[in-house]
Amino acid sequence: MWEKLKKLKFRDIWYKDGLRFECQRCGACCSGAPGIVQFTKEEGLAMAEELGIPFEALAENFAYRHEDIYFLKDFPCEYGYDCVMLQRYESGAPSGCLVSRSKPVQCKTWPFWPEILYSKRTWEQAAKKCPGINKGRLYTLEEIQKQMRQTPQPDFEPPEEDCHTQKPDIK
Ligand code: SF4
Ligand code: SF4
Repeated sequence: MWEKLKKLKFRDIWYKDGLRFECQRCGACCSGAPGIVQFTKEEGLAMAEELGIPFEALAENFAYRHEDIYFLKDFPCEYGYDCVMLQRYESGAPSGCLVSRSKPVQCKTWPFWPEILYSKRTWEQAAKKCPGINKGRLYTLEEIQKQMRQTPQPDFEPPEEDCHTQKPDIK
């Protein structure tokens, strides 16, 4: 997808005047349909440190590994599938991310992902799930392109059934 986007001529880039985004902290992008968040060992080490657990425990219990790439697992619940790092209040409302300081780049660059920026249509489709899209701060073309380039592009998709786990007991 990024390869296709790189070939677009400037006049074809539909978001050259910038895009608005401001997270509303609803947690929808961390829940719902099964999804994968890819991370490197360095990112895993940072998350383990924030959680106060050994990296091996994080990798074994909360991640699926393929060669040098790791993927955060999710777990089935009444909201679909929650990322293992998503926290909820007793009411069920999302309360935050357990690794808010060290979350992987893929989480930080949402919604400026190549597949979402591909067209106005894909952007508006994402806006149906994410209430922060089209709100708040205006990101310039340069800022958007920078975040898009940083977003990891998986050339491997882990088997979905291997990416589910139990609700983690980490506080
Ligand atoms: S879905 Fe959008 S608004 Fe909600 S937490 Fe994710 S980024 Fe923020
Ligand atoms: S790591 Fe945090 S921000 Fe990323 S999907 Fe999981 S809960 Fe959401």
